[in-house]
Amino acid sequence: MAKPDYLHFFIDPNRCIGCQACVQACTECDTHRGESMIHLEYVSRPESVQTVPVVCMHCEQPTCAEVCPADAIKRTGDGVVQSARKPRCIACGNCVMACPFGVPELYEDRKIMMKCDMCYDRSSIGKKPMCATVCPSQALFFGTREQIAQLRPLSAPVNTFQFGAQTITTQVHVMVPRALAQPRAYVDVAAAMDEQPRSRAVSLKVLGSDPYAEVEV
Ligand code: SF4
Ligand code: SF4
Repeated sequence: MAKPDYLHFFIDPNRCIGCQACVQACTECDTHRGESMIHLEYVSRPESVQTVPVVCMHCEQPTCAEVCPADAIKRTGDGVVQSARKPRCIACGNCVMACPFGVPELYEDRKIMMKCDMCYDRSSIGKKPMCATVCPSQALFFGTREQIAQLRPLSAPVNTFQFGAQTITTQVHVMVPRALAQPRAYVDVAAAMDEQPRSRAVSLKVLGSDPYAEVEV
């Protein structure tokens, strides 16, 4: 079986509401029961409530596999990068250090690296990964390009990421505002990390002794 080539994984971090449904659904998976392979990251806790779901991006040239001394990480013919093979993994942690997206995790107790494999037991027969079945805001979407274009007319899928001099192309697409995707069809990750969140300060009137006093939140 292989993942149908017309089905793709799209992440739209703007739509993540931090509900953790994806994390809970991932722990239900039979292949890694009790552990979630999806992480929910906070962009900047002091400044924003924005959360970002992090799954394996399934790189076309996976750095994790390139640095693995035990050849434990395999990429299937349809481009899905698998978790480490148990008999081979020596739990050295090279992949954890090398992945530019911060995906693999080392499980010291089991001496193995585990990561998201796009629910290959499901996606290889055309079913959605568990996280995409439960995400209420469709921040995680598994479907066709036509479906995502219809759902997000103002966004465009990008699957090329620039890390300094290194360009990485991935199976998983990130939705970015269409206006940003037009001049350059890639995400400059280093530049994006320097961006500051837009100020969302609003002024509220405070009722009290001075009814016209204002407080900034
Ligand atoms: S995102 Fe990280 S773990 Fe996933 S294939 Fe790329 S390098 Fe490997
Ligand atoms: S931890 Fe396992 S999978 Fe990762 S690089 Fe080391 S041997 Fe390979």
